[in-house]
Amino acid sequence: MIEPGGYVRDIFLKPVGDSVTAHGWVKTRRDSKGVSFIQLSDGSTFADLQIVVEAGAILDEVLAGVTTGASLRVSGELVASPGAGQAVELKASLIEVIGTADTATYPLQKKGHTMEFLREKAHLRSRSNTFGAVFRVRSALSFAIHQFFQERGFLNVHTPLITTSDAEGAGAMFGVSTLDLLNLPRTEAGQIDYTSDFFGKRAHLTVSGQLEAEIFALAFTNVYTFGPTFRAENSNTPRHLAEFWMIEPEMAFCDLDGNRALAEQFLKAIISHVLNHCEADLAFFNQRVDNTILSTLEQVATADFEHVTYTEAVSILEKAGRAFEFPVFWGADLQSEHERYLTEETFKKPVIVTDYPQEIKAFYMRRNDDEKTVRAMDVLAPRIGEIIGGSQREERHDVLRDKITAQGLPLEEYWWYLELRKYGSVPHAGFGLGLERMLMYITGMKNIRDVIPFPRTPGDAEF
Ligand code: ATP
Ligand code: MG
Repeated sequence: MIEPGGYVRDIFLKPVGDSVTAHGWVKTRRDSKGVSFIQLSDGSTFADLQIVVEAGAILDEVLAGVTTGASLRVSGELVASPGAGQAVELKASLIEVIGTADTATYPLQKKGHTMEFLREKAHLRSRSNTFGAVFRVRSALSFAIHQFFQERGFLNVHTPLITTSDAEGAGAMFGVSTLDLLNLPRTEAGQIDYTSDFFGKRAHLTVSGQLEAEIFALAFTNVYTFGPTFRAENSNTPRHLAEFWMIEPEMAFCDLDGNRALAEQFLKAIISHVLNHCEADLAFFNQRVDNTILSTLEQVATADFEHVTYTEAVSILEKAGRAFEFPVFWGADLQSEHERYLTEETFKKPVIVTDYPQEIKAFYMRRNDDEKTVRAMDVLAPRIGEIIGGSQREERHDVLRDKITAQGLPLEEYWWYLELRKYGSVPHAGFGLGLERMLMYITGMKNIRDVIPFPRTPGDAEF
């Protein structure tokens, strides 16, 4: 039996003089005057454990295997560290090299690597400082999201990943089929005959769990989804993935104001959690990636969010006396330059914009009495622009049917969605947050491929 010796994170909490055993991977090794210093990491915390090997303490044959990338078990005594950067270090009395790493070929060297290079080494990049910090924050953020909803009694619902409804309309979809691509069955008219496909009809990977979440909200009152989402967008931007994770709360007996209040509490709570639990990781991002990270996060966690309607926002932008790249006029969607102007220059804090023109928003958003705008909301944050999109849903059967037809969508696809409005319909609302977009905001990482363990993008699904 190999017993775990405890996380490095826990070793840092132990008193000087304790005998401890640590496991981990060698980040670097430095030799000077017969003494060796090894930086050991097990990923449990940002700081590496410094191992000191005094002359003669460990056999030379063993020390020869202690190279960058090798895995070790080290036992010894915890001593106060004279060096800057750590309070304690481990004076080794026993080192066991568990797995060697060939220094000639190990790809992660002390010198900095580009993000592009590290993406090609996604099986090893998690051992680097940057990716260690990214994935610890990702884990803490996911926990905070579940905690926020669970504490408020929300039911976590697992909406399906495979769907035969063509109806979600949020983006290009990936097909799911077991048909033989080299020998496709055809109808008499020459179309592909999906009746002999696995599901008996055309199937896709989901682009959103919202419509199914609405079904559950109309039974469990408050629910949330937290799962993978797929979009076959051939857009190759630093903000889009083909596979990403989305959080979608949905609340019955709730209107747009309630939705807005919840979104504000939600962002504050999850950001506060990360500020309180990932201090060393965030300090690293603030120092190495973007020195406004901590100040903007603290601001979002504490400032009251501003609220303006779309119409008010447009009038602020028209009066800005600024030549925007995209023109501003009532009816045009807000671009990120406009969103950043509102959050960074006008209000200097997060802003929630509501009541957008019906034409630029999805069919399921509740129509206002002016018949021109819908109960949509976007939460805008300084430094990034839109971070959450949501709405109060159209709960009136006839209005919803009109809106589906008006947008040229096939009514029959929405039969169950419409039926929810026939049996105990209630005002309800919800929003969506892309986990990776939130992580980009929190860490300052510039490319969405670097905040998910194994990114899927056009032309790339390695690992
Ligand atoms: P965008 O305009 O950036 O393409 P969207 O309007 O298509 O976003 P929604 O359909 O509102 O986005 O999806 C909800 C959330 O999912 C977005 O706010 C964003 O955080 C995230 N998101 C959307 N598409 C992607 C993607 N391809 N990769 C990663 N996250 C995404
Ligand atoms: Mg999109």
